Amino acid sequence: MLEVQPIHAFNDNYIWLIKAPNQQTCWVVDPGDAAPVQNYLKTANLTLEGILLTHHHYDHIDGVAELAKQGVEVVGFAKDAKRLPTLTQAVQQGATFDLLGQSVEVMEVPGHTLGHIVYFIKNEHQPLLFSGDTLFAAGCGRMFEGTPEQMQASLQSLAELPENTLVFAAHEYTLSNLKFALQVEPNNTALQARMLESTKLREANQPTLPSNIGIELATNPFLRLNQPEVLASLQARQPNANLSAPAEAFKILRSWKDTA
Ligand SMILES: [Zn+2]
Repeated sequence: MLEVQPIHAFNDNYIWLIKAPNQQTCWVVDPGDAAPVQNYLKTANLTLEGILLTHHHYDHIDGVAELAKQGVEVVGFAKDAKRLPTLTQAVQQGATFDLLGQSVEVMEVPGHTLGHIVYFIKNEHQPLLFSGDTLFAAGCGRMFEGTPEQMQASLQSLAELPENTLVFAAHEYTLSNLKFALQVEPNNTALQARMLESTKLREANQPTLPSNIGIELATNPFLRLNQPEVLASLQARQPNANLSAPAEAFKILRSWKDTA
């Protein structure tokens, strides 16, 4: 079983640090800044073995050059290698590789960017997902490069992972996402409860992450495009929309969030 800790970066980024119990080697995901990682490694007396990259945005990769000076593995998507720091392992959709004794699967999830991947650690007792800027707690990333069809299909592929899969997203956006989700589904009691719980966590300066797939299925409107209350809210915004197509429903929901 792996241990995962957040390292705070910028305003609201989490650089996730992954280690095995009682071992001093670790990996980090999306180090947009080297300094907070270096401080953490020093304080915890850990050695960095490798870096996982989900996509090319600066707040996910700008710490890589500095951290990789010591000679560590850098894993990223082969298709987007031109926009990523130098990779030691360029991986494809569906590839699996070993990380600290666990098997990691690469899933291609275009939409936020066209070269976005996520990392799924398949441990049967406790699966883990490093979802970058694709799946957030109670929300999803903006569509900078992909189409609604692509982004909706990407999110659907994550929704099909085991419900106990812990979701480690790259930003603390939960409260603003929940506020929007409650506009879409004001009567969702799981959502109301999550808002209370997450508000308490943030008041205590605690991360609201990880989430898990089961919680997202119950509260994340972007994974609930077939729910009557979600559909009614979308239809009220766009009376002529054909919501039987999930990509169309997704498109309306995403643009509503972008302007909310
Ligand atoms: Zn991004």
